[in-house]
Amino acid sequence: MTKPHVKLFIPGPVEVSEDTLQAMCQPMIGHRGTGFQDLYAAIQPKLQAILYTKNPVFISTSSAWGVMEGAVRNLVAKKVLNCCCGAFSDKWFDVSKRCGKEAEELKIDWGQPILPEAVDAKLKTGQFDAITLIHNETSTGLMNPLADIAKVVRKYPEVMFIVDSVSSMTAVKIETDALGIDVLLAGTQKAWAMPPGLAVFAVSERALKKAEKMPGRGFYFDFPEFKANHDKNMTPSTPSIPHIYGLKFKLDQFEKEGIENRYARHAKMAQKTREWAKSRGFELFPKAGYESLTLTCIKNTRNIDVAKLQKALKDKYKVLIDGGYGPIKGKTFRLAHMGDETLETVSQLHVMIDDCLKSL
Ligand SMILES: *Cc1c(COP(=O)(O)O)cnc(C)c1O
Repeated sequence: MTKPHVKLFIPGPVEVSEDTLQAMCQPMIGHRGTGFQDLYAAIQPKLQAILYTKNPVFISTSSAWGVMEGAVRNLVAKKVLNCCCGAFSDKWFDVSKRCGKEAEELKIDWGQPILPEAVDAKLKTGQFDAITLIHNETSTGLMNPLADIAKVVRKYPEVMFIVDSVSSMTAVKIETDALGIDVLLAGTQKAWAMPPGLAVFAVSERALKKAEKMPGRGFYFDFPEFKANHDKNMTPSTPSIPHIYGLKFKLDQFEKEGIENRYARHAKMAQKTREWAKSRGFELFPKAGYESLTLTCIKNTRNIDVAKLQKALKDKYKVLIDGGYGPIKGKTFRLAHMGDETLETVSQLHVMIDDCLKSL
């Protein structure tokens, strides 16, 4: 039985199921032995399937930022275009500069999407050899039109297309190869519904080729190093083996549910949450038509005391919701509906919020 705890409805880390935690509790094995190699080899095709790629899917013992920084260090020679429309995407611009790279922002207001025409206008200048895009901007609950942007990016074969899908991978279909994505990455504590500490990322062949010649890419996130070890069913350094058992468990679980059913479940939870918010007199923060499928960022149009609501939910129901990110704290609040949540559990959350709103 799960220990008594506050259930997380924040958009990361999210609630981790008891059976997932159990699956991670295994005796340790050596990471240079056949036991580990067998484990790695067993999950690789499943990872490739869920990422819709024929290329290797690497496993990094880090949070997502490790790979986000690594992608910039491995793939930017000339200048990177960072598409910025929220806290995480804005930060990627800062990280690019900290890595000593030439970088430029495509800056859009929070809650507004990155549009393909804007990307095209920038890439047309010929200044860039890489672009970073956050598919699902978790801070604003906005989902960027990835397929439309991909079409534009692929007009420029020299541009490396680096996509963060931290809060959408496995919840929404992202066809990595078909979209021409060079790096697709995610940490495990959001859409994957595992504990934090691991990231997975697919890298295209041409990206690997480019990385081989890139100076200053360091060791821990060196993509060619990942590839050399991958060819032996290993990781460059000692990985978080419990997480890899967790990955295996999750991948089997997705298979049992059926991946299309998994996508449909997320779409239904999102729709239900949006309907609930609107029917209670709230509005949604992101521009209509670009709302995330894995979390809902609700505009506090009723001017409620969000901190008080959070406290009431925690005290009375032992659930935690998010009170808004950074500059939009209190002006918004966010409800996550990803991972193992169901229409039933999110509906229960709505009832709890209704109850707590009465006593605010
Ligand atoms: C949470 C998040 C990150 C950062 O993940 P860490 O695990 O903290 O490194 C990056 N991008 C998006 C879209 C996120 O939601």
